[in-house]
Amino acid sequence: MASSNQVNAVVAGGEPRPGTSGELGTVTNPADNSVVATMEFAGAADVDYSVQAATAAFPDWSTAPPSVRSSALLRLAARLESRAEEYAQVESAQSGKPIRLTREFDVPGSIDNVAFFAGAARNLEGKAAAEWDGVHTSYIRREAVGVVGSIAPWNYPLQMAMWKILPAIAAGNTIVLKPAAITPLTSLMLAEDALAVDIPVGVVNVVVGSGAVAGEALVSHPGVSMVSFTGSTPIGQRVMELATATVKRVHLELGGKAPFVVFDDADLEAAIHGAVAGSLINAGQDCTAATRAYVQRPLFDAFVAGVADFFSGVVLGDPADPATDMGPLVSRRQQLSVAGFVDRARAAGATVVTGGAAPQGELAAGSYYLPTLVTGAAQRSEIVQDEIFGPVLVVLPFDSDDEGLALANDTPFGLAASAWTTSLLRAMRASREIKAGCVWINDHIPIVSEMPHGGFKQSGFGKDMSTYSFDEYTQVKHVSMDITGVARKSWHRTIFTTTR
Ligand code: NAD
Ligand code: MN
Repeated sequence: MASSNQVNAVVAGGEPRPGTSGELGTVTNPADNSVVATMEFAGAADVDYSVQAATAAFPDWSTAPPSVRSSALLRLAARLESRAEEYAQVESAQSGKPIRLTREFDVPGSIDNVAFFAGAARNLEGKAAAEWDGVHTSYIRREAVGVVGSIAPWNYPLQMAMWKILPAIAAGNTIVLKPAAITPLTSLMLAEDALAVDIPVGVVNVVVGSGAVAGEALVSHPGVSMVSFTGSTPIGQRVMELATATVKRVHLELGGKAPFVVFDDADLEAAIHGAVAGSLINAGQDCTAATRAYVQRPLFDAFVAGVADFFSGVVLGDPADPATDMGPLVSRRQQLSVAGFVDRARAAGATVVTGGAAPQGELAAGSYYLPTLVTGAAQRSEIVQDEIFGPVLVVLPFDSDDEGLALANDTPFGLAASAWTTSLLRAMRASREIKAGCVWINDHIPIVSEMPHGGFKQSGFGKDMSTYSFDEYTQVKHVSMDITGVARKSWHRTIFTTTR
């Protein structure tokens, strides 16, 4: 895209338009920090306009037969298929993701999400009816919540937009999505494609603006019934606080610090491969990425050597080149933040086995950081406890199984984890004892549309994807119908005794 590419920050109420905040937004390609697009950011007035559009669309959309919502999503899936390469290119350019990743993971994964929710939309139901007291028939309705205000992060821009939009609209809600200000382009494309396939005007609305202005306006808006947020734990706390004023339903998918526990009977080769892929996917900017490898003492040295060997062979380069393994981080800011964590760990006495710097030469113009392996860090230190969101893996040894599992649980986060073992008992024990929303055994990262994603502890609450997400995006209504037809019901005796 040319650097003069000016885009509209708002696709709401059926048409694209510039924002009116007066703030100029710039989308850059972190491979060389060139400008990909600019826009006039949305402000509070644009959020209000979008919420009104979503409110107007709600009555018809929420009462449409599920087959209508389902076929709308099927049309969207077909549209995305036909534009898959374009989505892959734009997603790569705005975020620095290698094109291999966007072609093989982000885009097909997103299309699969749409296809899944097209089916799931037709499988929403309440429980069967019965007469629990003998004189009323009860049944359960699952109803849409209303206008959902969603806020997404920059690490998987298209997929996070999908995870927010799909369960919400499949269940009959309408949505206003605010993508991350630095990676909004594929969300805007998606909103335009929703219109192109005749998803009714106002069902899917996207507003691009800063978190402080557009984000806070959306979370605070009285017309929004539910807030669904994916992002960092501190901003999630702020979102929850803002939601209290109007008692909004809140769904939070927050940070992670996934442990990767290698027992001494593990397939070492599989664990090494898994650690490399699990920690470097998306340059480590993944909330479920392997960040803390705990390796039982007998395998520790071989594991460190094996991972270090792979790390030094990873090909950093232009994200547009299919030969590139790892692209830059999303921004200069993120690069400096990651570097800060590693520098402070080094100063505190940890060993940087490989990496630990930005690459020199041609890549210095971009926001790159080398795959970095750290040992010798203290369990209570920042690099082990805090989310780094970069290509940094810390490896620590453990002795007993008890110790390994206790260390795995020793952070405030609980999003995802993996355990590596050939023992059935150890696998069963790890899957039961690790406090996280997902535990992989002998793998790390793979997800499917059919299964829920969401955190324990300070990683948040509520589930994305799968039919579990409908627990967030619907509200349960109990309908109780008298089946006696009598005017004077037996329970009235407790209130009055006279007969008229
Ligand atoms: P972030 O918290 O900085 O921003 C997330 C979103 O919130 C952005 O759209 C931002 O503009 C908006 N925002 C910022 N301040 C706001 C405010 N005051 N009010 C309302 N909205 C505001 O996160 P990020 O840096 O974009 O993304 C990385 C984070 O996201 C990591 O912590 C990562 O773990 C998390 N994440 C979690 C999951 C999950 O499923 N649990 C998935 C992906 C990313
Ligand atoms: Mn960018």
